[in-house]
Amino acid sequence: MAELFDEVVSRAKEENRTYLMEHECKAVLESLGISTTGAEVARFEDEAVRIAESIGYPVVLKVVSPEVVHKSDAGGVKLDLKGPEEVRRAFAGIVEAFGAKKVVGVAVQKMASPGTEAIVGVARDPTFGPILMFGLGGIFVEILQDVSLRSIPISESDAEEMIAGIKGHALLEGYRGRSADIPALKRLLLQISDLVVEHPEISEMDLNPVFLYPDGYKVVDARVILGDVPEKVEAKAPRVQDLHDLFYPKSIAVIGASGTKGKLGWNVFCNLINHDFKGDLYPINPKAESILGIKAYPRISAVKKPIDVAVILVQASMTPEVVKECCDCGVKYVIVESAGFAEMGDSGRRIEEEMKAITDSYGVRLLGPNCSGIINTHCSMVQSIGIVDALSRGNIGLISQAGVCAAGMLWGLRHIMDFGIVATIGNKLDINETDMLEAVSQDENVNVICMYLESVKGGRSFIDVAKRITTKKPIIALKSGRTEAGKRAVASHTASMAGDDLVYSAVFKQAGVIRARDYEHMFNLARAVSKQPFPKKEGVFIITYAGSLGVISADAVIDEGMRLSELEPPLKERLLDLLPEYVGGTNPVDYTFSMDAETVKRTIEIGVDSDDVGSFIVILQAEILGSYVAPLGGIDYRGKPIMVCVAGKEFAMDDVIKMENAGIPVYQTPEQCADAISVMYKHWKLSG
Ligand code: ADP
Ligand code: MG
Repeated sequence: MAELFDEVVSRAKEENRTYLMEHECKAVLESLGISTTGAEVARFEDEAVRIAESIGYPVVLKVVSPEVVHKSDAGGVKLDLKGPEEVRRAFAGIVEAFGAKKVVGVAVQKMASPGTEAIVGVARDPTFGPILMFGLGGIFVEILQDVSLRSIPISESDAEEMIAGIKGHALLEGYRGRSADIPALKRLLLQISDLVVEHPEISEMDLNPVFLYPDGYKVVDARVILGDVPEKVEAKAPRVQDLHDLFYPKSIAVIGASGTKGKLGWNVFCNLINHDFKGDLYPINPKAESILGIKAYPRISAVKKPIDVAVILVQASMTPEVVKECCDCGVKYVIVESAGFAEMGDSGRRIEEEMKAITDSYGVRLLGPNCSGIINTHCSMVQSIGIVDALSRGNIGLISQAGVCAAGMLWGLRHIMDFGIVATIGNKLDINETDMLEAVSQDENVNVICMYLESVKGGRSFIDVAKRITTKKPIIALKSGRTEAGKRAVASHTASMAGDDLVYSAVFKQAGVIRARDYEHMFNLARAVSKQPFPKKEGVFIITYAGSLGVISADAVIDEGMRLSELEPPLKERLLDLLPEYVGGTNPVDYTFSMDAETVKRTIEIGVDSDDVGSFIVILQAEILGSYVAPLGGIDYRGKPIMVCVAGKEFAMDDVIKMENAGIPVYQTPEQCADAISVMYKHWKLSG
C-alpha cells in the first residue's frame, strides 16, 4: 500500500502536480480495503466501452485531467449510462467539453446505487495539524454546516463521537427507511486517520460524496492535495518536570524592583513582601541601597547566592543582556514581565529571538515576556504587576495568556473563589500553555484548572496532555481571538469548513476540556467545580420560594438535557408533611414565600435520602440570604452538589460571600445553576 501511495505521489511530482486525481486516490483507498466505485481510465471510446462491459451497466464517465479539480462543474461527470451507445456519446461529449485542457482520459466506473450522502475530509490546521472532518453531504454540509471535526490521529471513541456529534445523526441511525452502517463508517474514519499519519504529505483530502448504506458504504469521489511535510514540534516533556521550582522557589531576585510607589517594579516587590513570601528576596536596582527595607544589589551578579527565579522588569531592549547575566549566575527560571516584544511587531520579535537563543543555550526556562508572573497562594508568592490584596489558599489553578487574570480580576474574584496557582504565560516565548498545563496539573493543591487562551502553541501535544489530565482534574478553557488562519484560501471543501473556531471546539471536546463561553461562564463553572462534587445522576431537585423561578429552573434543567428527579413514595410523604397545605407540587418544591432555613434544610435532607436525586437547585430570597448560610452549610449532602440561585445577588454581596465561603456557589439565574449542573454531570459521565 505504502508503495502504491509513493508511486502515485512521485508521478504527481514528476508532472508538477500537488493534486492527486480521482482514479489515483481511489486506487490507494482500495489498497487499504476502503470500498470505492473504482475508476479505470480509458483513452479511447472503444476502450471505455470495453471497460463498461466488463464492470457492468449502469456506469459513470468522468473527465480525468490534472487541470480539473471540480469535474462536474464543467460537464465532466456523466451519470447512469446504460449501454455502449450512451458510453460513446458521453465519452465524445467529455472530450469535446475539455478540448482546451490537458485530458489524460476518461474514467469509467460503476454507478453506485443511491445512499445517504456523506463527506469525509482532511484539512490542515495551522495550530493542530491535520484535522479529520465528517458530515452529511448536500445541504447538510453546504447550508447547515453540520460537520464534526477532530485532530488526527483519532481514537475509536473520537470516531464514535464524530458520528454521533452531527445534528443529522438521527438519519444515520435510521429514519424513514434511511440508515447507515455505523461500524463501517467508524472504520473508514479510523483508516483515513491512519493514512494521514503515515503520509503527512497529505495536506487536504475530500471523499465527497461517500454513499452510506445500511450495509457498508461506497466512496464515490476522492481527491487529495499534497503539501510539504510539516515539521515535528520538538517534545519538551522531560524539562517540564522541573517547573516545580518555578512555583515553589526558595529565592527570587526582582530585576528592576523600585522603591517608587506606582512603578511596576514597586508593585511586584510590594506584592512579594505584603503577601509574606517566605523565601529570600533580592531587589536589583543600581540606584537603591534598599527597597522596602530589603537590601538591594546593583546587579544580579552582585548577589552571589543561589537564585531560583529572576523576575525581570527592565525595558525590552535591555532584556537580552539581563537574561544572559541571570543565566551566568545560575538562575533556574527567568520570568520576563516587561512588555514591548512580539506584540509590538518585528523589532520586539527580534529581541525575543535573541533572549530565546540565550536561555536555550544555557538550558534555562523562560516565562513570558509580557506576562504578570506567577501567584502561588500555597507558598504566599505573588509576582503580579498589579497590586493584589490578601488571597486565601484554594484549589483552582488558572493559566492565563493575559496578565489581567493575575491582578485586575482577582480584585473581585478573590472574595468568592480561592486560587492555588495563577500562572500568566504572556507571549509564550519558551514555556507555553501546554508546558504550564502539565506542570500546574501536577500540583497537589490544584484540582480544577481554568485556562484563558488566545492561541495554542503546543499543537497536538496540547490535546494529548489535556486528555491525560481531564480524567483526573477538570479543565475549563476560554478561547478568544479568531485568527486570520480561518480565512486562508483553500482548494478542498473540508478546508473551507474547518474554520479556526470550530477546530478549537473540536479539540477541546477531543481532550475532554470544558469550553467556556466568556469570562463569567469560566469563573461560574470554576466556582461550581471547585466547591461542589460532581452530580452522578441526572435527576435535579428544585426548591424555590417563588413559583415562577421554579418553573424557569425546571425549563432550564430540561433544556440542559437533565431531568427533574422523582421522590420515592415514602419520601414524598415526608415532604408533604413539611409543605404548607396550599402547595401541591413536589418538584419544584414551591414554598411561596413561606420558606425558612430550617424547612429548606429538612427538604434538602429528603432529597439527599432519595436515590433519584443527583443534585439540588435552591432558589433563595436575597433579603434573608444570610439566615441560610449556617443551616445549608451544615448539611451532609452525601456527595450531591447544590447550586443556589439568588435573583439580585449583586445587592446582597455580603451574604453571597458568606454563602460562597461556606462552599456553596451562588448564581444570579436559574439557567446558570442548571448549566453548571449539566456541564458537571456530562463531564463526570465522559471522564468517569
Ligand atoms: P466533482 O469533481 O464535481 O465533485 P463527483 O465525482 O463528485 O465530481 O461527481 C459529482 C456527483 O455525481 C457526485 O456528487 C454524485 O452525486 C454523482 N456521482 C459521481 N460518481 C458517481 C457514481 N460512481 N455513482 C453514482 N453517483 C455518482
Ligand atoms: Mg465530488
